[in-house]
Order: sequence, then structure tokens, then C-alpha cells
Amino acid sequence: NYAIGVDIGGTKVAVAAVNEQGTIISRSVIPTNLDIAPEAMIAEIQQEIRRIIERSGVHMDQVVGIGIGAPGPLDSKNGLISCPPNLPAWVDIPIRDLIGRVFPVPVLLENDANAAALAEKWIGAATETDNFIYITVSTGIGAGIISEGQLLKGMKGNAGDIGHAVIDPSFGECVCGQSGCLESIASGTAIAKRASAIVGREVTAKDVFHLYKEGHPDITAYMKDVFNVLGVASVSMINTFDPEKIVFGGGVSEFGEPMFEAIQQYVRRYALNPTGRKTEIAAAKLGQNAGVIGAAALCFHNGS
Ligand code: ADP
Ligand code: ZN
Repeated sequence: NYAIGVDIGGTKVAVAAVNEQGTIISRSVIPTNLDIAPEAMIAEIQQEIRRIIERSGVHMDQVVGIGIGAPGPLDSKNGLISCPPNLPAWVDIPIRDLIGRVFPVPVLLENDANAAALAEKWIGAATETDNFIYITVSTGIGAGIISEGQLLKGMKGNAGDIGHAVIDPSFGECVCGQSGCLESIASGTAIAKRASAIVGREVTAKDVFHLYKEGHPDITAYMKDVFNVLGVASVSMINTFDPEKIVFGGGVSEFGEPMFEAIQQYVRRYALNPTGRKTEIAAAKLGQNAGVIGAAALCFHNGS
């Protein structure tokens, strides 16, 4: 049996056929076109799903379902995408029914960070623990929380949206209207913005990564602060959910060992030493594929 995973992001949509072991049989990526109506974009996704099924040589009666991961806020029970900041035109789009109308299989929708958390639990960096948190530091920041082996969903599937937890109110305004949200300080978008001001030219988070590797003094000092802020967020999560592990994924996690070590150090000082906990900070194992594999996992494991 196979499941189709669909990972919808602000910049790209990944589609994959995944088997029951979590192996990707066939995968493709199409750009997210924000200039066309969501319905037109969904038509492109349907076409891509059809193409992936054909290309992987899977028969429709072997497909147990289609799982979709998408940025929040959404309504997972009713299958709606409800106007995420990075998909601004997608206001209450009934994606589950629009996809389900074309394919005669169950369609499931889940928040993208939650889906990635399920994938890391299934075949990634958290297979051996029932209590862990997946944090993606990418265009934005989000988390998937697995507690006692169960994905924490909340009322509509939006639990874990730590990107909009306030870390430092003295920091500038966030897209959500609050001041000093985690996402407005430590996301790839935020890093690019602040670092551009530091170096006096337009840079991306990826450029910042290279400047960091070269040992640029101002960037190194600045990133130390960013890693500290991720440490602050991790301590809050540890104190709230008591996880055994925090797994970091998303593009910004490419900073790698220096980032994980800095977060681990902060966490050791403020959440482990005082309590005797042993929470480990680790890198996601599935990288860019966590989203699609997790989306497919929804069909095999029904979200738990
Ligand atoms: P998405 O947010 O669409 O899911 P990603 O998880 O790839 O996509 O996150 C994109 C963000 O990660 C961008 O801000 C990008 O600049 C940043 N990024 C990508 N590669 C790196 C890297 N090697 N080092 C630091 N940041 C990176
Ligand atoms: Zn915010």
C-alpha cells in the first residue's frame, strides 16, 4: 500500500508517493504561485498528484489516502486552510474536499510542523521517544508536539504555533501585531532582515550562514543572540511539555552543530541542571522530506 503526501509551503509544494515503510517512491516539487487563485493552484496540485501516481507505477486501488500538510492557521477537522500569513489569498479554502472530489480516497489535512513531527517520530530522529517536540525554523517558526506518543492538536489542529509566542517585547512588531514574537526575531525571514542592516546590503539567511562560516565578527555575534533566543524558546517548551528531545528542522537549521550546541548549552543551564532533566537538542533526520513523509504518514497512522 501507498499514501500520497502533499506539503504545501509559501514557496513550494512537494508531492510524493510513500510506501508503508516511509520510503519515497517518487517525488516532485512545484513552485507555489501566489499570483493565481488558490483554486487554480489546487488544480495544479491535483495534476501533480496524478503525475506522481502514474510515474511511481502505483495503482489507484493501492493508494490508501492523500495526506496534506499546510501552514497554519487551518482547521484540520473540517479540512480548511484559513488564511496563513504566507498564503495570504487562501481564506477558508476547503482543500480537503477540493482534492477529495477528484480522487476516490480519504484525504487528511494537518498543520505542516505537526506532519513533520509525525515523520521524525516514524522514521526520523525521534523514533525511540514518545515525548518530543519538533521545531521548524524556516520562513516562519512552528512546532509539532508529541506527548505520550500522541500528536497534540488542539481545537482545530493549530497547537504548537510557537512562532507567535512573545520572547522579547522590546523587539519590533510581528506580522501578527504583537511585539517580539519568536518568529519576528529568529526565523529565516527575521535573520535576513536584521543581518542586512548589520552588513549594509541585502542578504538572505543562507548568505548569513556563509558569512557565519567565514567568521564575520558582527554576524557571529548577532547569530549568538539568535541561538540564545531559540534557547529561551526551548526552555519554555521544556518547562511546559517536559519532552525528552527537541528536534530542529527547517532551512535555518542548516547552521548545524554551532546552533544545536548553543541551544543545548542554554537549555542545560536553565532547564536541565536545575531539574535533573536530560532533554537533548537534535537535528531533524529527514531534512526537506519530513513534510511530505509526515503528510503521507497521516494516512497510515491517522495522525497519532
Ligand atoms: P519553507 O519555509 O518554505 O518551508 P525552508 O524550510 O527551506 O522553506 O526555510 C526557508 C528559510 O531557510 C529561508 O529563510 C532561507 O534563507 C533559510 N535557509 C535556507 N538554507 C539555509 C542555510 N543553509 N542556512 C541558513 N538558512 C537557510
Ligand atoms: Zn507574532
